[in-house]
Amino acid sequence: MIDFEFHSPTTLEEAFDLLEQYGEDARVIAGGTALVLQMKQRFAQPGHVIGLRKIPGLNSIAIEAMGSNGDTGSVRIGALCTQRSIEYSEIIGQKLPLVAETFRRVATPRIRSMATIGGGLVHGDPNQDPPPTLIALGASAVLTSSRGQRVVPVAELFLDYFETDLRPGEILTSVVVPQAPPGSGAAYLKFLPRTADDYATVSVAAVVTAGEDNMCRDVRIVLGSVGVTPVHASDAEDSLRGRPLNEENIRACAAMVSDLVDPLDDYRGSAAYKREMAQVFTRRAIQQAMAAMSPEKNKD
Ligand SMILES: Cc1cc2nc3c(=O)[nH]c(=O)nc-3n(C[C@H](O)[C@H](O)[C@H](O)COP(=O)(O)OP(=O)(O)OC[C@H]3O[C@@H](n4cnc5c(N)ncnc54)[C@H](O)[C@@H]3O)c2cc1C
Repeated sequence: MIDFEFHSPTTLEEAFDLLEQYGEDARVIAGGTALVLQMKQRFAQPGHVIGLRKIPGLNSIAIEAMGSNGDTGSVRIGALCTQRSIEYSEIIGQKLPLVAETFRRVATPRIRSMATIGGGLVHGDPNQDPPPTLIALGASAVLTSSRGQRVVPVAELFLDYFETDLRPGEILTSVVVPQAPPGSGAAYLKFLPRTADDYATVSVAAVVTAGEDNMCRDVRIVLGSVGVTPVHASDAEDSLRGRPLNEENIRACAAMVSDLVDPLDDYRGSAAYKREMAQVFTRRAIQQAMAAMSPEKNKD
């Protein structure tokens, strides 16, 4: 392990000052599950590590007021919330069951007890579970610095392999996740043929909203582990939106996904195999999302 100085600010302002003072030689740390490994492997060699845990207010989960336009409202999740606390949160279980289910699929309870939602997003690993679900639900990341706040859709946060839009001096302070629309069903599928605590070979989050006569009013499909960033399959969504949610249309929509992903060959499978699995699991995710719609909810 490299030598570094550890700082424990107790306010965000103090943390911003430290980031400004030490610039590129500083890194913030949340759960440490990713950064400590990078430091051990010398991929990251910060001289100053800034712990966020003593800053109050970064680990709460709260319902945001419903929007004036009659939307279903959102939940604000503090960046320091551990994956385990999200998995077990009563608010998340009630308002965002897809998020609870997705976090339950991450690694092991030991990792989930340390790893945070904010650390996972800033880590920028395209193989992680939460990003597809957060993007499918239309979540936004709140990035705060001494200059103010930026609210960035999670869909736009990932720029490249392990590269995010976090700018110097910024700290991710919360993630705002809208509830799925009324009349919708959602599913997150993680295909992992190896061990249950592995990263996905392919993962898919789908949120489907049905209208009258089983028409697809809206659909969101986002895949993980099949590109350098999470892949939002918007062309495939367009092919299903406004059409009947029948077997033929769902198959045609899923078939389009193979051309939208760009997976790597690795020990979890060849790129060709992952393309095939992306199609299969997209079809299953849409079907599972439809099965999760309650008949009551489907009424207009
Ligand atoms: C053995 C193992 C198995 C894993 N399996 C899975 C899996 O199956 N699925 C999955 O999704 N993930 C998996 N992970 C990844 C895990 O989810 C991430 O390591 C974790 O989410 C990172 O969160 P953290 O709080 O520990 O981040 P840290 O390690 O503390 O930080 C990660 C990065 O984010 C930065 N950072 C942290 N918090 C903030 C903030 N609030 N604002 C700005 N920058 C910040 C740090 O500077 C660092 O660059 C696994 C990890 C391990 C070690």
